[in-house]
Amino acid sequence: TSYGFSSVGEGEKQGLVNDVFHKVAKRYDIMNDVMSGGMHRVWKDAMISVLNPPKTPGWRFIDVAGGTGDIAFRIVEASRKEALGTVLDINGSMLGVGQERAEKRGLASHLEFVEANAEELPFEDKSFDAYTIAFGIRNVPDIDKALREAHRVLKRGGRFLCLEFSEVQMPVLDKLYEAWSFNGIPKMGQAIAGDGEPYRYLVESIRKFPRQADFAAMIERAGFSRVNWTNYTGGVAALHSGWKL
Ligand code: SAM
Repeated sequence: TSYGFSSVGEGEKQGLVNDVFHKVAKRYDIMNDVMSGGMHRVWKDAMISVLNPPKTPGWRFIDVAGGTGDIAFRIVEASRKEALGTVLDINGSMLGVGQERAEKRGLASHLEFVEANAEELPFEDKSFDAYTIAFGIRNVPDIDKALREAHRVLKRGGRFLCLEFSEVQMPVLDKLYEAWSFNGIPKMGQAIAGDGEPYRYLVESIRKFPRQADFAAMIERAGFSRVNWTNYTGGVAALHSGWKL
């Protein structure tokens, strides 16, 4: 298979993304550690401390492109098991792995798993106190539409947080990162998951994603206020924040 991503239209893109995650679902968690050298855990923990969920009942969040549950589990645990969450993903294989993990960790009663598209959230306006998305938005064909949906389902005063790979802003590190992502990551994918192509696609999607300031402008256009971002590891990842005021 070829994931010749640059030449595909929006409709096709989602199909390719789905293929990639159906293929990798079972090994997704281990691949995350390998590809990021364990850094994704540090970035995710940082995201949760920025969110700082209240340790009181009645607070609801949605984790979009939630995959195998990494973000949602952290939020529920940080709230001392008070928060209730919805893990939404377009891919049933990823959600299946997430549901199994939630049961093993005793978190299943705090979470619901919903198979749906980030571009069309099956929820009423003003349903959630927080919307999180980690390493997901760059896979969505129509990012502006997904951002408008995020704004719609949040309550007034609700928080939007997006963790995503971004533009490396340190000299040397950017070169190292490029070498690792274009050669290292597909090779590791080949070795561990038996197929390098999906990982080549993932690396390409990172390169195409808008840089920090441009993405912040998109979030503002969707209606969010007080938009800003924090770079992690020199900009390998960035956390964007916004409020629905
Ligand atoms: N958030 C998880 C994490 O940080 O470990 C999973 C991130 S994984 C790299 C990206 C996820 O985005 C996949 O589970 C994929 O199925 C999901 N995804 C891709 N396109 C989507 C869409 N249009 N709507 C919802 N989820 C989508």
